[in-house]
Amino acid sequence: MKLLIVEDEKNLNKIIAKRLKIEGYSTDSAFDGIEALECLSITEYDAILLDIMLPHLDGLSVLQRLRSAGNRTPVLFLTAKDTIVDKVTGLDSGADDYLVKPFEFDELLARLRVMLRRDHSSASNILTLGDLHLDLKTHEVTRSACTISLTAKEYEILEYMLQNAGCVLSRQQIQEHVWDFSYEGSSNMIDVYINTLRKKIDKEYDNKLLHTIRGAGYVLKIETEA
Ligand code: CA
Repeated sequence: MKLLIVEDEKNLNKIIAKRLKIEGYSTDSAFDGIEALECLSITEYDAILLDIMLPHLDGLSVLQRLRSAGNRTPVLFLTAKDTIVDKVTGLDSGADDYLVKPFEFDELLARLRVMLRRDHSSASNILTLGDLHLDLKTHEVTRSACTISLTAKEYEILEYMLQNAGCVLSRQQIQEHVWDFSYEGSSNMIDVYINTLRKKIDKEYDNKLLHTIRGAGYVLKIETEA
């Protein structure tokens, strides 16, 4: 996957590029709107991370020119602006998603995955996080090529968490997603399911994927060094 990072803050651009490379993406960097259009005229990218406030030509104009030229490359706006009006403007102008700075890198990764999956929707039925794989068609779950057998509810929780990998999910979110509305169980029940799920996917492995965020909920992610 090849990404274009358009961000005029040189340090931020560098940090994003470095982290994305660790995740296995290849990246090009542009530091203003004109440079971005030049890159886009030469190379085909799988997605573009596009700052809005840029020298020479702002991000909205870059996107407008791209779309009017028929370029449908998915665009994730990165911006310090966070009002509703700005969000609507960004999405109206043809951006696929929107992330407000400062952002958590895990959230950037999660949004990127969703965007790229949407764009290549027919390409894969497999959700992946590190060596953990979940097949949406066969419901087979493996880690390091070993099959893990899950109950139906455990599978649903894992699928939901993998689709939101990198995002913290509250007990309530998990419950609402996996159980139907009429269910009146205690939130302890979620903890019980998470514990059995954790034993099955993490116990035998050094690098843990399922993490508890105290007071917030749970997240599936690969722990990276700061
Ligand atoms: Ca900027």
